[in-house]
Amino acid sequence: MSQKASGPSPPHKHCRVCGISISPSKDYCSTECKDLEEGTAKRMRNYRRLTIALMVGAMAALVVLSVYLRVR
Ligand SMILES: [Zn+2]
Repeated sequence: MSQKASGPSPPHKHCRVCGISISPSKDYCSTECKDLEEGTAKRMRNYRRLTIALMVGAMAALVVLSVYLRVR
C-alpha cells in the first residue's frame, strides 16, 4: 500500500524569470535571473524614453516645417 505525503505544501514562490520553485523570501532563483529581469526592465525603460523622444522630435520637426512652409 503506497501512501503519498499529503500535508499542506510548504510556502514557496516561483522565479519570476524561469518559474522554478524558490523560497518565499526570494524573487529569483539566482543572480543570473535577477540580472536578466533587471536588464530587461532597464532596456524597456530606455526604449520607452527613446520612443517618447522620437515622437517629440518628430512633432517639433513637423511644427518647424509647417512654420517654415507658411513663411515662404
Ligand atoms: Zn530563475
